[in-house]
Amino acid sequence: MVDYSKLLQNLEFVNISTDEFTIFEWKPPRSLKSYILDLNVVKQNPVSNIFFHIFRGNMKIVHIRSKNLIYTAGSNTEIQFQLLEALIEQVSKVFNEIYDIDSYIKYGNFSITVFNPFKDEINKIIKNFNSLDLVNEIMVPCRVCNTVLSITVKRSFIENSESYPVPLVYNHKGHAILCFIDKNYAVRGVELVNTTG
Ligand SMILES: [Zn+2]
Repeated sequence: MVDYSKLLQNLEFVNISTDEFTIFEWKPPRSLKSYILDLNVVKQNPVSNIFFHIFRGNMKIVHIRSKNLIYTAGSNTEIQFQLLEALIEQVSKVFNEIYDIDSYIKYGNFSITVFNPFKDEINKIIKNFNSLDLVNEIMVPCRVCNTVLSITVKRSFIENSESYPVPLVYNHKGHAILCFIDKNYAVRGVELVNTTG
């Protein structure tokens, strides 16, 4: 079993922003890095309710715009994008349970220090990630690598799907495979696919 809490030690930051400014940021202890330039890139994307994946230098960044907020998480390349998505989904769920963010934004005059205690919630999410049961690992053979790959799959992605099996592209080491996953997380087929972009 993958120790996701340990894997999430590769996390560089979690940011929650409005279009104007950051209202919350989590970074690992002792990190002095700034991600303002990365967040400026993220903010330029106006699309809502879709996860976007970007590479910035040797960092992976996932972001989503949902209601009035933009949620962003960055890590080194050890973490798969689906794990970052699952993390953001949980962060946004807990954040919205604790804070009535619409009221804060509507009335405007709040200090972002009210969100500081949320750092403990992020630490809790990371520490308890395995027990939250938000992701599954599937084992998929790749005939290019000639090995069996462990691919992290977000449970919400499978469970909210309208039809099965669900297609998922895994991009790795300069090539990509397309896997078909059924609702029991069994892999029903794997194809090598060409990609461009
Ligand atoms: Zn491969």
